[in-house]
Amino acid sequence: MQFIDLKTQFERIEEDVTARVNAVLQSQRYVMGPEVNELEEKLAEFAGTKYAYTCASGTDALVIPLMAYGLEKTDAVFVPSFTFFASAESITLAGGTPIFVDIDEDSFNMDPIELEKEIKRVVGEGKLTPRGIIPVDLFGRLADYEAISGIAEKYGLFVLEDACQGFGATSNGKRACSFGDVAATSFFPAKPLGCYGDGGAIFTNSDELASLITSIRVHGQGVDKYDNVRIGVNGRFDTIQAAVILAKLQIFEDELLERERVAAYYTKNLSDVLRTPSSVLHETSAWAQYTLVAKDKAQRDQVLAGMKDMGIPSAVYYPVPIHQSTAYRDLGYGDVALPVSEELASRVFSLPMHPYLREEEMDRIISAVRESL
Ligand SMILES: *Cc1c(COP(=O)(O)O)cnc(C)c1O
Repeated sequence: MQFIDLKTQFERIEEDVTARVNAVLQSQRYVMGPEVNELEEKLAEFAGTKYAYTCASGTDALVIPLMAYGLEKTDAVFVPSFTFFASAESITLAGGTPIFVDIDEDSFNMDPIELEKEIKRVVGEGKLTPRGIIPVDLFGRLADYEAISGIAEKYGLFVLEDACQGFGATSNGKRACSFGDVAATSFFPAKPLGCYGDGGAIFTNSDELASLITSIRVHGQGVDKYDNVRIGVNGRFDTIQAAVILAKLQIFEDELLERERVAAYYTKNLSDVLRTPSSVLHETSAWAQYTLVAKDKAQRDQVLAGMKDMGIPSAVYYPVPIHQSTAYRDLGYGDVALPVSEELASRVFSLPMHPYLREEEMDRIISAVRESL
């Protein structure tokens, strides 16, 4: 059994993928070929934004807009600590300083009350200038954009949606990557919409950001290709990978429904023994991960060991909150700075999640969890 089964998906789309990749091989337009443009139009249409720009990774999709905002070391950008490292790393790479915000226990996402507390603390200390917020759509569930946008407006901060796990999620019909001033997603193979390598995309409605993003994505190019007007990166997306995503987009809506089916089945059969993900009225998740919460670390580790013995894959996202990672030790966060993030890091674990899980496989997974308890 696989934690994420990419092989069954490949068998479903093999003909289409092979034809599209072959077309790129024939045209030999490996960088910025016509498939890249075609994909960008489709992505913008899907997310409901004016612009979508592909790039080399989800990390670049975060770094490039942050570079467009021209961060300095004294600029504070607020980000959850309970997320993948790149959510915060991108701030440091772009020259700013991450300020870690605790999460809501139920949604695993940035807690708006804690966010405002941290903004006030930073303002009060007077050393850093609050500039922006990076809410993360963790495990595929949208962050609380209504509350966060209100706070952003009140303090004049930009919002960069980290939808690297959220692409496909909806709130009242509005899609992930359309919240905030600008959004980032990732096409890493294990994400809900993944290619066969690294990739990502940036979304915005802002003309000004759009022109900065396209410039920074290609070495800060100006109108004249050889007159570079600012510092940028090589952040282009490969044409072959665009061809792969074009094929996968055709089945993506159906796959989202299948993910929903898997999540509903897990919840129905596990909610009596463990804390299962809650659902929100008028919202759908992209179900990047299906994450359970054990009553304590001992119980979590017992279940993981039991599942391993029965040959059932599992994973812990994330065992170390970023503020406790070695790389950020010098920011001076103590051991108990973000209690909810720290507590959940010791209690969460995730089950196999992909659109092709059959009922008998889910039954095996469910009984492995129940027996291990
Ligand atoms: C995967 C991920 C990223 C980084 O994406 P890459 O494509 O791996 O660079 C950033 N943020 C979150 C929340 C992610 O899950």
